[in-house]
Amino acid sequence: MAFACLLLMAGRTSSTIESVDAYLTRAEDVRLTDHTRFAAMLAQIHAEKSSLTVAQQWRLRYLDAWEDQFTGQYAKAEAGYRDIIDRSGDSTLAAKSTGLLLSTLAATRRYEDAFHLAKRAVVLLGEVRDPMARYSLLANLSQTLNFAGHPEIALRYARMMADDVPPGETTCRPITLSLAARYSTHTLKPTDPDFSRGIEACTTAGQPVLANAIWLTQSELLVEAHEPQKALAILDQVAASVRETHYFPANVSMTVQRATAYQQLGRDDDARQAALAAVGMYEHADTDEYQRDAYKVLYEVEKRAGNMAPALSYYQKYAEQERGYLNDVSARALAYEAVEQRTLVQKLEAEKLSRQNDLLELEQAITLKAVETSRLYIALLAAVLGSVVFWLFRVKRSQLRFRELSHHDGLTGIYNHQHFMDELEAVLNDMSHRQAPVCLVMLDLDHFKAVNDTYGHSIGDAVLRHVVGLCQQHLRPEDVFGRLGGEEFGVLLPGCDLAQGTAIADAMRASLAASPVQIDGKVVSCSTSAGVAFSGTSGYDLKQLRRDADTALYGAKRSGRNRVVAVTTGGSLKA
Ligand code: GH3
Ligand code: MG
Ligand code: MG
Repeated sequence: MAFACLLLMAGRTSSTIESVDAYLTRAEDVRLTDHTRFAAMLAQIHAEKSSLTVAQQWRLRYLDAWEDQFTGQYAKAEAGYRDIIDRSGDSTLAAKSTGLLLSTLAATRRYEDAFHLAKRAVVLLGEVRDPMARYSLLANLSQTLNFAGHPEIALRYARMMADDVPPGETTCRPITLSLAARYSTHTLKPTDPDFSRGIEACTTAGQPVLANAIWLTQSELLVEAHEPQKALAILDQVAASVRETHYFPANVSMTVQRATAYQQLGRDDDARQAALAAVGMYEHADTDEYQRDAYKVLYEVEKRAGNMAPALSYYQKYAEQERGYLNDVSARALAYEAVEQRTLVQKLEAEKLSRQNDLLELEQAITLKAVETSRLYIALLAAVLGSVVFWLFRVKRSQLRFRELSHHDGLTGIYNHQHFMDELEAVLNDMSHRQAPVCLVMLDLDHFKAVNDTYGHSIGDAVLRHVVGLCQQHLRPEDVFGRLGGEEFGVLLPGCDLAQGTAIADAMRASLAASPVQIDGKVVSCSTSAGVAFSGTSGYDLKQLRRDADTALYGAKRSGRNRVVAVTTGGSLKA
C-alpha cells in the first residue's frame, strides 16, 4: 500500500498510525543497505508531513539529521541531533542522536564538545529503556572514553554491553570494543583467545569491517613484538577483505604494518614501496600515527642504504608526525580534564542554589514561630559558611591539580611537550628583545629500545627518571627542561653562547655515560646523543632553532652516538 494512502487514514484510526510508524521503521532499516530507496521514502514522508503526530515528526527529524550526516552536511546534522536531544523528550531517539553526534564530534577533533556530550550521555543511560538504543549508546561511550585516554572506563562499558546483548545482536561489538580498550592499556597479547572469539563472532554477524579491525589489531601486536612472519601471514589473509570494504583507516593500517614487517625482515625495497604507498593514500596534510610509522620506515630504509639526504628529510617528516600525534593525544586528555572541571563547577553551583533554598525555607519557619531566632541564625550561617569554605577548598585543590597535570609530564615530573613549547616562546621572546644569547639542546637517548627489550618497560621508565635527575644536576634555575615525548628531551639555556651551551650539553652527556644505574639488582648503562642550536646562527624563531637542533642531533646519531654536535655558522655541523 502506498505511503500516501496510509497517511490518509492515519488521522482516523489508531491502528493506521502504527502503520506510519512501521513505514518510518522500514525507512530506518534500509538506510544503509539501500540508500536510494531510503531517500525516496524520506521524500515521501515529507510530502505528508502535516498529518504526522508529534512523536512521528521527531522520528522524521531524526532521519533527516541522519541523512544530513550521511551526505556530509555536518552542521545541519548537528543542529538536528541537538534539537532531538534537548527537546524531543524521547529517550530512545535522544540516545541514538547522542551516539551519532559523538562520533562526528570526535572525528572532527572537537574533543571538548564530544566529552561534554559523553557526560550527558551517561545520565541518559539510566533512562533509555529500548535495549538496542542503550546498547549503541554504551558502544559510543566505550569508543569515546578510550579515545579520551581512559581505556579502563571504556572497558567497563564494553563489559556492560557483553552482559546485556539485545536480541538479534551478537558478541561482535562488545568483544571488538573490549579488545580496543585492552590494546590501549598495553596489556593485550597477540595470543589472547578474545581475538579468535571476536573474529568468529563478527564474521558470523556479517560485520567484515569489525572482523578486519580485530585481525589488524592482532597483526599490529605481532609487528610490535617483532614477529614479522606471523604478522604478514595475517595481513595476507585479510588483504582482500580490507580492500573490498574501502574503510580508510584499515587500508592505511594494513599498508603501514606491511612496510614495518618487511623492514624487520630486511626486505628494504618492499618496505620502501609499501611505506610510500601508505603516505600516498593521504590527500590532505594531516598528522597521525600511521604516517609517523610510514616515515619511520622510510627513514630507516634510506639510512641503511646510505642515502643520507633523503634519510634526513624523512627523519624530519617522522619527527613532525610524532609531534603532531603526541599533541593530538594530549589535546584529547586536556579536553577531557576541562570538561571534568566544568562539571564540578556546575555541581557546585547547583549545590549552592539548593542551599540557598534551604536557607529561605528555614528563614520563613523562624519568622513564623518566632522562637530561638538568633541561635538558629547563627547555626545556619555557620553551616552555610562551612560548606562554602569546604567547596572553595575542593575547587581550588582540583584546579591546582589540573594545572599541575596539564603542565608536567606524569613520569618524570618535568615540563611536558606543550608546556615546554609555551615556556620556550616566552623566554625566546624576552631574549630576542634583549638581544641576549640563548642555546637550545635536543637530547635523544641512544638505543633506548634495546633497554626496554632487555630489561622491560618498567625498568626503562626508571632509567628515564634517573636520566632526568642526572641532567638536572647540570642545569641552572633559569634553564627550561622538558620531555618532548618518549626518550627525547629539550633544554633551553638562556644567556649561553654556543661554547657554553655545548659545554653544558656535554657535561650532561658525560655524566650520563659515566653513571650506570642500579635498578632491581640490575645495572643498566645508558648514553645520549645531543644536538645544540644557537641564537647567534639560528635566530630567535622557535621553529628554526628546533629544526637546527634536530639536524644537529641527527648528525650526532649518524656519527656514532654518545656525543654532542653543534650547529655552527651557515648550518654546518661541528662535533
Ligand atoms: P636511537 O639511538 O636511534 O635513538 O635508538 P632508539 O632505540 O632510542 O630509537 P628510538 O628513538 O626510535 O626509540 C625510542 C624507544 O623509546 C621506543 C620505545 O620503546 C621507548 N620509549 C618511548 N617512550 C617510552 C616510555 O615512556 N617508557 C619507556 N620505558 N620506553 C619508552
Ligand atoms: Mg627517539
Ligand atoms: Mg633514541
